[in-house]
Amino acid sequence: MSERQNTPRTCTSCGGAKGHTIDASHDGVTVQTWRPCGPCHGTGIQGGGI
Ligand SMILES: [Zn+2]
Repeated sequence: MSERQNTPRTCTSCGGAKGHTIDASHDGVTVQTWRPCGPCHGTGIQGGGI
């Protein structure tokens, strides 16, 4: 049996979260900005989006 698999790996940078939310308070207003993970292009998969 071949161990060669093409299974997508979870992005190690975001842990599969596809990105993270940045909390930025401005003038008393909480603003949440979604920032897609760079290495996985917001897919949560290593090398995703390429
Ligand atoms: Zn990622």
